[in-house]
Amino acid sequence: MSSSTNADEKKKESFNAEAASLLVNNLRATFASGTTRSYEWRASQLKALIILCDAHEQQIIDALYSDLAKPPLETVAYEIAMFKNSCKAALKELKRWMTSEKVKTSIATFPSTAEIVSEPLGVVLVISAWNYPFLLSLEPVIGAIAAGNALVLKPSEIAPATSSLLAKLLGEYLDNSCIRVVEGAVDETSALLQQKWDKIFYTGNGRVGRIVMAAAAIHLTPVVLELGGKSPVVVDSNIDLKVATRRIIAGKWGCNNGQACVSPDYIITTKDYAPKLVDSLKAELEKFYGKNPLESKDLSRIVNSNHFGRLTKFLDDEKVSGKIVFGGEKDESKLRISPTILLDIPRNSLIMREEIFGPLLPIITVDKLEESFDVINSGTKPLAAYLFTTNNKLKEQFVMNISAGGLVVNDTALHLAVNTLPFGGVGESGVGAYHGKFSFDAFSHKKAVLYRSFLGDAPIRYPPYTNIKMRLLKALVGGGLLGIIRALFGLS
Ligand code: NAD
Repeated sequence: MSSSTNADEKKKESFNAEAASLLVNNLRATFASGTTRSYEWRASQLKALIILCDAHEQQIIDALYSDLAKPPLETVAYEIAMFKNSCKAALKELKRWMTSEKVKTSIATFPSTAEIVSEPLGVVLVISAWNYPFLLSLEPVIGAIAAGNALVLKPSEIAPATSSLLAKLLGEYLDNSCIRVVEGAVDETSALLQQKWDKIFYTGNGRVGRIVMAAAAIHLTPVVLELGGKSPVVVDSNIDLKVATRRIIAGKWGCNNGQACVSPDYIITTKDYAPKLVDSLKAELEKFYGKNPLESKDLSRIVNSNHFGRLTKFLDDEKVSGKIVFGGEKDESKLRISPTILLDIPRNSLIMREEIFGPLLPIITVDKLEESFDVINSGTKPLAAYLFTTNNKLKEQFVMNISAGGLVVNDTALHLAVNTLPFGGVGESGVGAYHGKFSFDAFSHKKAVLYRSFLGDAPIRYPPYTNIKMRLLKALVGGGLLGIIRALFGLS
């Protein structure tokens, strides 16, 4: 073991509950000093994030390559560009977001004015996942900073190169009296979770989501849980098949080789249309990734041997092993699995019971496309659901009947690039949402403020509670000027 590895180990070992408590206390003191509240501080940190990103783009690309063999184009498009766009949008909108919102008041408080003031929550914890380790770490951080909080980021240990790069760069570029990175795995995260936070923002699987929520409940800490699920794609027969196929491939294999929370998890189409769809997927996949996709530089690898084993188990299930119609090749030494399509698999197979999160794509067939709604609704609510059709009635029914974190008609995954849309799950796919203004709101408390003067001190609210006061009260509640005048004159 080299001396630097020794030192790293020591540093990590020493991060226990005591160290976590000290860290939170220090951040709380800085937060209490008011540093993070000013527009100038928030803007300076967001600008620093953009500078950091520009200055170290190649290092970010290299870290993601080391963690996932993520193709540089995917890193630039889905991690760096998306992050920078969010950061720039936050900078552009920040003053407006921070401005309190004047709201109407009611007759009960007349005369008065009221406003909603967005105040920072305090000291928040962001725990992120390995699959988009740069974006999923920093996108919530944008919201936490924009809303004026002090924060700790805990990146995923499963993407160690990105985790250590984030720790280094955030240490160098950001204000460390308010923003800190803690690296580590279960022990370090558990030490952090024992502390009292003002919000915990967690991205990852539902099992750990439950651990996070249980830890948060002890301190009544609110949470955002960005989880996953089985995101279905419903494919009609009246479509531009080539465009639909390419968009399905882009959302599945073109997003980290299926290791994305919004990746198409399975397809539902009619028995009649399935062969055409399979042929089209085969043809386009071959055009994109060649005859030997295990060698393709345009596909990420599986993140580690645990996940490789998990995916292999899906294929080894005897209920599905004979159903592969494309792909199925594996190379364990390189952690590679080729794009794989399975047709007509039973709904009770392992692959249909768990989130796939990898390059395997099952197709389920139904007699009539409308049956797909029952298939989807019989499972837990997905993070995303997709429909390809030109039938407006079906689009309407899909939007009305399918409950998911988000829906996309005639494309996949792209909704998360629209920062005027909230991004988050529902039911088992998550709690809360972020992106754009929703990130700012996720890390803010909406404080209700009512302003009164000393005028208009209505005796009606004070004892003695007379009959005339009762009549006047009823007239006020019932509304209508005439009723109020009648009550005042004793006519009602
Ligand atoms: P992961 O293994 O990186 O875990 C996420 C975080 O949880 C890490 O920081 C890890 O250190 C921490 N963690 C793990 N075990 C823990 C424990 N016992 N106690 C406390 N903390 C612990 O990521 P993952 O869970 O494999 O991520 C994949 C899942 O996340 C999929 O279900 C995917 O759909 C979902 N996901 C959702 C989104 C979204 O935005 N909704 C984005 C990416 C991934």
